[in-house]
Amino acid sequence: MDATKQIALQRIRTLFRLAREVIHEDPSLAQRYVKIARKIAMGTKLRLPREYRRLVCRHCKSFILPGVNCRVRIQSRRGPHLVVTCLNCGKHSRMPLKSREK
Ligand SMILES: [Zn+2]
Repeated sequence: MDATKQIALQRIRTLFRLAREVIHEDPSLAQRYVKIARKIAMGTKLRLPREYRRLVCRHCKSFILPGVNCRVRIQSRRGPHLVVTCLNCGKHSRMPLKSREK
């Protein structure tokens, strides 16, 4: 990985950390941090790490945190997976539970 991408990744990590810290006090600021993080990722053609992709709604791209603005249910039919309901757009995303590859 080149230096540009490494710096970008570092910034993304910081932004997600900040977003998580401020979401209770200032949800719109948290959304802004994540928007910037996604922009950085796109600008450097970097994919968001899996741990962060889970925190972004697949439909409306907003920052979602369980217990704050999304609901998580575990489904075991057709393979164990999580059903995440974004409380911002009301849509569901499915996430398989098994594949925890890097
Ligand atoms: Zn959404």
